[in-house]
Amino acid sequence: MPDPRASNEPSREAAISADVVRIIDEATGIPIESSESAVPFVELGFDSLSLTQLAIQVRQRYQVELTFRQLMESHRSLDSLVAYLTKQVPATSIEPKPAGGGAEEVARAPTPMPEVSNGAVAPQMLEQVIRQQMEMMSQQLQLLCRAHGDPGFGQPAPKSQNGRGDPGSEPRREPEAFGAIARIDTKPEPEAGGGSISAAQRLRLEAFIRRYAERTQQSKAYTQAHRAHLADPRVVNGFAPLTKEITYQIVVERSEGSRLWDLDGNEYIDALNGFGMSLFGWQPDFIVDAIKRRIDEGYEIGPQHALTGEVAAMICEFTGFDRAGFCNTGSEAVMGAMRVARTVTGRSTIVIFSGAYHGIFDEVVVRATGKQRAFPAAPGIMPSAAKNVLVLEYGTPESLAIIKSRAHELAAVLVEPVQSRRPDFQPRDFLQELREVTQESGTVLIFDEVVTGFRSHPAGIQGLFGIQADICTYGKVIGGGFPIGVIAGKSEFMDALDGGAWQYGDDSIPAAGVTYFAGTFVRHPLALAATKAALEHLRARGPALQVALTSQTDEMVAALNEFCREVGAPISVVSFASMWRINFTQEHPLQGLLFAMLRLRGVHIIDNFPCFLTTAHTAQDVAQIISAFQESVTELQAGGFLPRPKSGAGVVLDDANPPVPGARIGKDEDGNAAWFIPNPEVPGKYLRLD
Ligand code: PMP
Repeated sequence: MPDPRASNEPSREAAISADVVRIIDEATGIPIESSESAVPFVELGFDSLSLTQLAIQVRQRYQVELTFRQLMESHRSLDSLVAYLTKQVPATSIEPKPAGGGAEEVARAPTPMPEVSNGAVAPQMLEQVIRQQMEMMSQQLQLLCRAHGDPGFGQPAPKSQNGRGDPGSEPRREPEAFGAIARIDTKPEPEAGGGSISAAQRLRLEAFIRRYAERTQQSKAYTQAHRAHLADPRVVNGFAPLTKEITYQIVVERSEGSRLWDLDGNEYIDALNGFGMSLFGWQPDFIVDAIKRRIDEGYEIGPQHALTGEVAAMICEFTGFDRAGFCNTGSEAVMGAMRVARTVTGRSTIVIFSGAYHGIFDEVVVRATGKQRAFPAAPGIMPSAAKNVLVLEYGTPESLAIIKSRAHELAAVLVEPVQSRRPDFQPRDFLQELREVTQESGTVLIFDEVVTGFRSHPAGIQGLFGIQADICTYGKVIGGGFPIGVIAGKSEFMDALDGGAWQYGDDSIPAAGVTYFAGTFVRHPLALAATKAALEHLRARGPALQVALTSQTDEMVAALNEFCREVGAPISVVSFASMWRINFTQEHPLQGLLFAMLRLRGVHIIDNFPCFLTTAHTAQDVAQIISAFQESVTELQAGGFLPRPKSGAGVVLDDANPPVPGARIGKDEDGNAAWFIPNPEVPGKYLRLD
């Protein structure tokens, strides 16, 4: 008797394949075309997060063992995953799943097939089930094909995949790694002289790693000593086998003004500045004095503190809003603002924009890869968390049109007016139009000014652009170094936190509908004391403080860009107010070494994070940042990690200063001077350093 299971293997495989494509689409939003079924997931734009999500969903659906590691190594593509599942999963346990079924739905227990007396499945029954499966899968495939044909909104501009892909191939729509999420790349190292790293680059890299690890050895030892008990995503961020030996944070012991000192006693100019939280440098007198006083007098949690009302009034004075409420972080402020907007409007959908960052709670840790659909951007976040969030492309007329057409169902549009990922994009007209559209439809306009508030202008973007939102969220700068989040807004919205105005001595009542918002450490007296001191300082200095800092930043950024232009380095430094960031305009596998090279030269910076200047940064500090940047870019180019104009085009090689030990100057095939090193694989031959 032929085994009916074996004869139907190809159809099972097709059914499983379509099912896995659906799971991938629902869980990650990453489309897989049929021509890509053999391409490794990592080359299709999957990162460690999306692969973890995929492993979880497939495990649930098929009740099989499947780990993130297997998806990196043994089941690296759709084809190999499907082959594995086809082998592992009993033919009787695959049930068709309706298209659009939530990926979070826990896999139903396998329904046993009707059995004939010898324990085998009745062939006619099996045939019928497979036919049904195939029909359903074909419908799903059609749906998927249609969805993939759409241009899609809310997707960052396509970019080359990972710097290692074929530059001539069509760029894929790749989901951007989300916010500050730990980026972990466990792909094995390319062979020396093979892959995208040349033997010369490897030598250069090894020399650099030795220098870096030597200078920061205490930070490295500290990180290793505490890895077992300290679970810290930031420490592993940027992990890649090639640079594993320098994957650790600089561990800092003390700070003052614009400077930090690490465990090895190295001094740094801080370019990160607490992710934009510090506007005045470390330990400014006016904050330290306020905190010392408060510690002496007490910092009671529970009773109302005398500072609370006073600080709320100051925030209203700065922002032009009626009322303000407190929490401990920017994330909490954004979450509260969304809840308030839904409470007041009775609507559920909130628009956010691609590229924005709004914090760590589920509803904003989402990304859009398909048309008007949002997907969780990290494992552990259920697809349902993204159901009431619409992620649109930032600053486009198409997005405005969607907002107009769906205005009646939108509780709020939450916008980071100038995104820290894209500071040079300052769509003032778009924001103005957004204000008008939301005004007309009664949709709450929320500006997330956690970064831009108080930094760009005393009244933040609202003041700088002259556009009044309904609610703003603040954090970072205003806390003067202490944890704080603020929701400020017009009374009609803020009243949802406490019922609104009422007086003693008459029959008035808190009449507005109230939602829930609380926290043990909310209105912490130390944070309030620091906030009051920060606001008093800002009030005394006036808008000139932000104007001066912005122009200092503009000048520095202009100098950095001019240097990149001169030496032909594919880097663009962009800024808004005193926030600036380094962008690579091409992709080269080891270009990110720039950040470590800057740290080695005493500039504290975290790879790919936005940077900031503070009022503590002097002209001398700025000059030092510029020269460290110039030296680092030069080193990257000399090591072949970044391209540079061909030798001979004005580039002078310094014999006394070889880019790697043992390198010698010779002539290349065009007769131009260039650096050469002995080819480790072919004795007597030399390799040109690019
Ligand atoms: N909104 C924006 C614009 C932010 O940049 C951040 C943090 N970088 C947040 C919200 C969240 O703030 P927090 O990290 O204090 O929760």
